Amino acid sequence: MDKFEKILEKMLEMSENQLNTLIEMQKKRICICRECPSFNECMNENKEGLFCILGNSNCSLELIECKCGECPAHIRFQMKYELYCVEGSEEEQRSKKK
Ligand code: SF4
Ligand code: SF4
Repeated sequence: MDKFEKILEKMLEMSENQLNTLIEMQKKRICICRECPSFNECMNENKEGLFCILGNSNCSLELIECKCGECPAHIRFQMKYELYCVEGSEEEQRSKKK
């Protein structure tokens, strides 16, 4: 089990409230999507982020670049994929590409 699988397991044990609080906090603290040229006004207005956990954006977007490879969470939790706002969460991409 790698670090991403471990953190996912921990998240599954949390209550809905705890999980929502964590997600909103980490969108602001750790996620660097807001610095990405692909992150647009629609995503900003909808307070989107943390696509590696939450999956695709609900906005239509033009993919310019992905900054996930530079994100501390990406490195710390040994994530393998990127482009989460268009390709789906780390978990979704892992299961698709198995
Ligand atoms: S890996 Fe990408 S989507 Fe996940 S927290 Fe970092 S910048 Fe955000
Ligand atoms: S998931 Fe990647 S491409 Fe999408 S907004 Fe975040 S850094 Fe940019």
